[in-house]
Amino acid sequence: MSRAEPQFDELYREVILDHYRRPRNAGSLEAPTHQAEGANPVCGDEIELDVAIDGNVICEMAFRGQGCSISQSSASMMTERVCGATVAEARRVMQLFEAQLVESAEPDPALGDLEALQGVAQFPVRVKCALLCWKVLHAALETNDNEATTPQGV
Ligand code: ZN
Repeated sequence: MSRAEPQFDELYREVILDHYRRPRNAGSLEAPTHQAEGANPVCGDEIELDVAIDGNVICEMAFRGQGCSISQSSASMMTERVCGATVAEARRVMQLFEAQLVESAEPDPALGDLEALQGVAQFPVRVKCALLCWKVLHAALETNDNEATTPQGV
């Protein structure tokens, strides 16, 4: 029996596959302060996100989702990158990530593992996959702004 090996190109770098196979922060939080969900119907990707913010710091995140490897690995990398950061820093990383994918900006060192998704910029359809979790995070941060938008955010 011969099964064709998938041809993984630059789009599916090892770090992406690693996050897809072993998603970090998968599951749910007992006491999230912020929650949101979103979907990318073009690809069938879905993300539900729990966020726990204390003061201005994102203490914990957990996500549940299904869909393609880009959408799920992006969510895993996002939670890993943003946990422990301030809300302001999370928003900054969100902008850097979007610039990397939409404007093909040079990856910023602040992106960490998220830099691995740089190749997605060449595939506009997949950019939506990679950005889905960030849109959900953005929506979650908007759900309750009494702590999330305190001016002394940094
Ligand atoms: Zn997708």
